[in-house]
Amino acid sequence: MAEYDYDLFTIGAGSGGVRASRVSAAMGARVAIAEEYRVGGTCVIRGCVPKKMLIYGAHFAEDLEDCANFGWHIEGKRFDWKVLRDNVLKDVDRLEGAYTDTLENNGCTILHERAELVGPHEIRLASGTTVTAKHILIATGARPHVPGCEGHELGITSNEAFHLDAIPERILIAGGGYIANEFAGIFNEFGSKVTIMTRSDQLLRSYDEGLRERLLHISMLKGIDFRFHAEFEAIEKKGRSLKVSMANHEPIEVDCVMFATGRVPNTEGLGLDQAGVELGENGAIKVDRFSRTNIDHIYAVGDVTDRVQLTPVAIREGQAFAETVFGGKPHAVDHSCIPSAVFSHPPLCGVGLTEKQARQKLGPVKVYQSDFRPMKNVLAGREERALYKMICDEADKIVGIHMIGPDAPEIMQAAAVAVKAGLHKADFDATCAVHPTMAEELVLLR
Ligand code: NDP
Repeated sequence: MAEYDYDLFTIGAGSGGVRASRVSAAMGARVAIAEEYRVGGTCVIRGCVPKKMLIYGAHFAEDLEDCANFGWHIEGKRFDWKVLRDNVLKDVDRLEGAYTDTLENNGCTILHERAELVGPHEIRLASGTTVTAKHILIATGARPHVPGCEGHELGITSNEAFHLDAIPERILIAGGGYIANEFAGIFNEFGSKVTIMTRSDQLLRSYDEGLRERLLHISMLKGIDFRFHAEFEAIEKKGRSLKVSMANHEPIEVDCVMFATGRVPNTEGLGLDQAGVELGENGAIKVDRFSRTNIDHIYAVGDVTDRVQLTPVAIREGQAFAETVFGGKPHAVDHSCIPSAVFSHPPLCGVGLTEKQARQKLGPVKVYQSDFRPMKNVLAGREERALYKMICDEADKIVGIHMIGPDAPEIMQAAAVAVKAGLHKADFDATCAVHPTMAEELVLLR
């Protein structure tokens, strides 16, 4: 008889949990994975994937405007939100099925219920059963943070945005980060009057200043309003509208308020205290380089650890966990030089140090940049300029690349390889351009 019911019990079937579980099972571990909501987690069910589909849907609005100068005249064009929404939700169902199949094909037992720790090796399921596991992996992700102002329950978060009955005519988005800027672009393209409110005067704090300024400028050109240094006082219902009072600004009436004010780790009510697992100040699980908690056989990966809240990072952490614990190849994820993108309109992205970070860390640095109007925008009559920046140390080693412009994240994936590999500006100069592209600007930077 085995000492434990399972070799691994994973709580949370999101990006990190699914990868860790299926790879561990493929290596011969007896694995169970519990999920109280839907298999796939935030990224697949109500995050990156459906959001990107909405971004594609929104982009048609600009393409349909721009196409006139390319000779296309389309009469009677109209947008039907419910068609897009339902097609996106259908694809999410398909992906959930694919994730479920992957787990089952690798022999994982999926338990569609909440699980909580009741001891170091004991897990109680919502149905009342208690099971035991040699190793436990917490991969419960994070949830939207909602500020505790009066009337906050009248607002929505990105979770609900995918299920709206109609596109709001006027929407107030709180926050100036990834989700706020991405959804501001989506709603604006679908015709909403969008206002973003932030507590500071900064958008997307972790990105290069030049890009952030460019996004703000273009967003304002597109008609998005910004209210900086604004903090909620109250939200109240006024007929079918919502009246929002805030510090430092006049009240505003809108049809929808959306909170995009960060995400908090899902650690409450998991019984972590019963197992003696230590948490950090913000409720995130504290882990070492190998994603191990202070309890030897309990690990945590992904957003619940609040290291880097990005899907590809959670996946890597899940993979490294499986290889370390069940594959006999211990290794830690390298969290340096992670490329990332914001799918705003236009999108922006970066890898490595921003100009400001590089100056603070390295002192003198060299900045090469290209500020250009993409060919397609020129013909379309669209006054939007792209900006590419390469930051190098004094020896011309590249320490960061930052881009805003059409398809910038697609270009970034390849550029990030070069930065991660420690290439120099001269390596880019030595590479022949692919002409005519926007990406060629990277090898023509001055
Ligand atoms: P972000 O951390 O990107 O931005 C949070 C925003 O909310 C900031 O403007 C912040 O202001 C503000 N804020 C934080 N706390 C409060 C508060 N108590 N009251 C008022 N404002 C507040 O979070 P998001 O919610 O946009 O996204 C969560 C995470 O999900 C991201 O950090 C990212 O890691 C991930 N994500 C990644 C995406 C991608 O890869 N494309 C897309 C969407 C999400 P301040 O700057 O002043 O702190």
